[in-house]
Amino acid sequence: MINQENYTRIAGELAAKKVQLIAVSKTRPAGDIRTLYDLGHRDFGENYVQELADKQGQLPGDIRWHFIGHLQSNKVKYIAPFIHLIQSVDSLKLLKEINKQAVKHDREIACLLQVHIAEEETKFGFDERELETLMASDRSELAALEHIRIAGLMGMASLSADENKIKSEFKKLKSLFDRFKELREANLQFTILSMGMSSDVDMAVREGSNMVRIGSFIFGERK
Ligand SMILES: *Cc1c(COP(=O)(O)O)cnc(C)c1O
Repeated sequence: MINQENYTRIAGELAAKKVQLIAVSKTRPAGDIRTLYDLGHRDFGENYVQELADKQGQLPGDIRWHFIGHLQSNKVKYIAPFIHLIQSVDSLKLLKEINKQAVKHDREIACLLQVHIAEEETKFGFDERELETLMASDRSELAALEHIRIAGLMGMASLSADENKIKSEFKKLKSLFDRFKELREANLQFTILSMGMSSDVDMAVREGSNMVRIGSFIFGERK
């Protein structure tokens, strides 16, 4: 079951602000995705490779699938033929594997670098220093990956009731985005800043997000 009222409202608000809405459909049945698809929605986010591959096989071919969960290198091959944007890249090793699979399928795969901005230890992603290393000393290795396109950054703020903390985490991600946006190379052009989920979407948009990933506000609480 989707909450159509919530969907219509948030889709309208975000469209007016030119913020892209990714409907996070992890754990939801294909039927719910179909309902949203029939309302005209095309961008969906999934966290698990197997679940994504199953749904992709059952649903219309013009859906743009976004991978937003932790991705193991040995699973890239299952999503490489069709994935629209891999938002959760957290290592150079993974970028190399995505490039290899993209070559195999004769396509370009767009990626976002996931940045660890939250306090929680368990969240994946580059930290600030690792990102700097990638953009400086590893740049020549990056440049050789001609079948990927690094289109920006993704991050998740802390799960916290402290608005100031969330705000400062988003500010940090935005400032990294602005800094690396200056770099313009064939396969590295930052245009997407993916931040904001159901609980912090308003704050994320105020702090400069242009892509948000919303699950429970549209589909209801996950079990
Ligand atoms: C689950 C998830 C979301 C959506 O979370 P909601 O609170 O349901 O909106 C967004 N981003 C990532 C990376 C997620 O794993």
